[in-house]
Amino acid sequence: MISVKEALEKVLSHVDVLEPGDELILDSLGQVLADDIYSTIDIPGMDNTAMDGYAVQAESTMGATHSSPNILRVTGEVAAGYLTKEEVMPGTAIRIMTGAPIPNGADAVVQFEDTDEEIRKAQNQPLSEIGVFREVEKGLNIRRAGEDISSGSLVLTKGTLLRPQEIGVLASLGRDVVTVFRRPVVAILSTGDELVDVGKPLPPGKIYSSNSYSLAAQVARYGGIPKRLGIARDSIQSLEEKLKEAREADLLITSAGVSVGDYDVVKDVLAKQGEVTFWAVRMKPGKPLAFGVLRLGKRAVPHLGLPGNPVSSMITFEQFARPAIFKMLGRRSFDKPTVHARSESHIKNKDGRRIFARVKVREEDGGYIARLAGPQGSGILTSMTLANGLLIVPEDVPAVQVGDNVVVQMLDWEQEI
Ligand code: AMP
Ligand code: MG
Repeated sequence: MISVKEALEKVLSHVDVLEPGDELILDSLGQVLADDIYSTIDIPGMDNTAMDGYAVQAESTMGATHSSPNILRVTGEVAAGYLTKEEVMPGTAIRIMTGAPIPNGADAVVQFEDTDEEIRKAQNQPLSEIGVFREVEKGLNIRRAGEDISSGSLVLTKGTLLRPQEIGVLASLGRDVVTVFRRPVVAILSTGDELVDVGKPLPPGKIYSSNSYSLAAQVARYGGIPKRLGIARDSIQSLEEKLKEAREADLLITSAGVSVGDYDVVKDVLAKQGEVTFWAVRMKPGKPLAFGVLRLGKRAVPHLGLPGNPVSSMITFEQFARPAIFKMLGRRSFDKPTVHARSESHIKNKDGRRIFARVKVREEDGGYIARLAGPQGSGILTSMTLANGLLIVPEDVPAVQVGDNVVVQMLDWEQEI
């Protein structure tokens, strides 16, 4: 039986970053840039004001105080999105709104709060003049052209993961389409005579195929495109029939049928139609776990045969399918973020496997504390809903005692720091 680390290396060695393609920027969330992005424009495009106020020459405010304001003649007004031909001279001002271009002649903006505008308005006086309460220095409240991005500069580099802020930057450059590495299509096939799809009545002895959905949701969460192939029965014929639909996929995930039971036919098909890299991994939950390459028509599709138990399938997905999807997406790091925590639970490791225990992590006194999230049976899927982390008990640690320092993979944290 191979270790989790060796198994992951083998899985990753069978997948590679996918080819680049164009996407609408909003569809590229969670994908990785396949090109460097240069700007063809300055941002901001021109000097503009960071505040609502009055564009002035700083000189005109010399000596101004609250009790003795400098009175300037107001010669116009300019809103964001408009240019004014009016020029600011010594002793004049132009009323200006945030984002509006700085008029010629002006070298500072006095914000409304530093003028007597409120008082004039309250007294119904026209705003043809304005009193300035304080001296301002040149450049005050002016955002310079190109201060964020200058035309011709490299803004985002190839390999960057696109988050909402990168998508915002792309939009600020005027890009509607971006070249990113393609999302992997991940085919998901559940197997088992006992399975019924959701939305149908449940005959005695049957169960709903929850794995079809938890796995598809995991694929989508991590940036892949799930392709649900439904349910195959526990017969080689049914399985082979369904597997044909996985021909176009970049990764095939099957659930169940990989343990040693009589009806575990996934392993038979994999042995017949593919090359098996491993059958079992030294981990808990998730010991029966197959990986190989399946020949489907002309294509060889990497295949992860996950265990059927609902918790095992989700946790093995996290450890192996998620990193494979990340690699195909062109992401640089495949690791789930971890924290160090103090365990509040006692966890035995009887047979030298790597345990992934479902825990709830909380913060207390500046540190993290992890406690088992309910019963740890691999069929108890609600324990996953109570958990926000997976506490890792390494292979060579026979037990975690209460108070021990442990490492926890954070299930809902997106990225490593
Ligand atoms: P197996 O790997 O076929 O021995 O299945 C192990 C356990 O997982 C059995 O209790 C199955 O009923 C259960 N199981 C298998 N497939 C699914 C599925 N798609 N959704 C929920 N439970 C499943
Ligand atoms: Mg089965």
